[in-house]
Amino acid sequence: MSSYDYDLFVIGGGSGGVRGARVAASLGKKVAIAEEYRYGGTCVIRGCVPKKLFVYASQYHEHFEDAAGFGWTVGESSFDWKKLIAAKDVEIARLEGLYKKGLSNANAEILETRAELIDRHTVRLVKTGQMVTAKTIVIATGGRPNEHRALPGYELCISSNEAFHLDELPKSIVIAGGGYIAVEFANVFHGLGVETTLIYRGAEILSRFDHDLRRGLHEAMVAKGIRILCHDVIEKVSKGADGLVVETKNNGTLNAGVVMLALGRDPNTEGLGLEAAGVKTDARGAVVVDEYSRTSVDNIYALGDVTDRVQLTPVAIHEAMCFIETEYKNNPTKPDHETIATAVFSQPEIGTVGLTEEAAAKAYKEIEVYRAQFRPLKATLSGRGEKMLMKLIVDAASRKVIGAHILGHDAGEMAQILGITLKAGCTKDDFDRTMAVHPTAAEELVTMYAPSYRIVDGQKV
Ligand code: NDP
Repeated sequence: MSSYDYDLFVIGGGSGGVRGARVAASLGKKVAIAEEYRYGGTCVIRGCVPKKLFVYASQYHEHFEDAAGFGWTVGESSFDWKKLIAAKDVEIARLEGLYKKGLSNANAEILETRAELIDRHTVRLVKTGQMVTAKTIVIATGGRPNEHRALPGYELCISSNEAFHLDELPKSIVIAGGGYIAVEFANVFHGLGVETTLIYRGAEILSRFDHDLRRGLHEAMVAKGIRILCHDVIEKVSKGADGLVVETKNNGTLNAGVVMLALGRDPNTEGLGLEAAGVKTDARGAVVVDEYSRTSVDNIYALGDVTDRVQLTPVAIHEAMCFIETEYKNNPTKPDHETIATAVFSQPEIGTVGLTEEAAAKAYKEIEVYRAQFRPLKATLSGRGEKMLMKLIVDAASRKVIGAHILGHDAGEMAQILGITLKAGCTKDDFDRTMAVHPTAAEELVTMYAPSYRIVDGQKV
């Protein structure tokens, strides 16, 4: 009989924490999980899921326009922001309920409170002040938007958290940042009829993506009417007579109903008692873990965004499953962070897996680049100008496909399938002998027979 109250105590009810708690409980462990806000965490409550619902909502005006090319006459349309928020909230509450149900069905104890570490085996439940002990502890407290407190007027700005609950849809918005969140929300707000400006400090948005996708998306967004200001930053935000006044470094003063900062997310570790427990953090406040997600204290693990490894929901879930193998199945398993397929739900969408052309050119002596840009079939009748872009990067020596990048409709869906092929180590010849599915956009992936160009020793030939 264990001398602890619980075999496992999980702090944080997001994707990683819930998965770890639920599976451990289903293995017969005595588990408690504590969440200070809402079960489901960022992804379900104020991230991926509501964002994707917003993306769908923002695409309808283009669907209505496109319909005309197919013979439809669509009557007058209007959009009701409050209705969308209410519908979204119902769905999010349903999902939160499912998360809790999964936990209680597995017999995990659900605690609705903030929890802080007192020492390596003791947790204080903040709501009641109660102390509980656990043999093993998992920290899965996620991340939170970087508030950018150095910016004068930062307190007047919103982050993605508030974007999900704005009372009114603003007439105009200025969004700072050039990453996933900035780009996705710029498209959402623009699609809902908000005059949208994106301000990014670098030369091109989405700095870690393939240059063709970055450029292609930038051009497509500008063509839709989104203003993108690169090489610029916001220097000050203040209240004006009619909304907010945004002073930029290089583009003068802008007026906006709302200013949103999407400048990255910080690990949620403040006040968690990590020092008291002896858990080390890095300069950004992220919990330092080894290859098995174990912290500097051997009975304490950390999973997901709080470790600042790869800030993606499926990664946190995978890390949780590896933790279960390691801790409870006598099968030490390291999370695999290689070749992660990902999507940016911009409009057009990005789906990508593996190395960018630039990274591959540095890592390999010779690469082949297969590139196709075309007008999707639907656009022929709709008249929409958008182009689809597909790229495969192949290591010339092994013939392995080491990168696949798509810009266009359903790119995220395609990235999931491409992820399997790259993970399996498929070669370009495997792609070539795969029959096309016709007529699809994806068939282009198996019909690009000749390389568009090669890069040898970093030089395009
Ligand atoms: P990102 O890391 O994607 O982007 C942050 C952006 O802010 C970058 O453009 C960065 O510029 C810029 N930036 C950072 N600091 C400053 C500064 N001081 N001044 C000006 N610009 C700055 O973070 P996000 O906040 O967009 O998203 C957080 C994470 O959430 C992502 O990394 C992603 O993993 C995850 N996410 C995933 C989604 C998906 O899977 N579809 C959707 C949304 C989020 P630079 O590039 O020059 O460093």
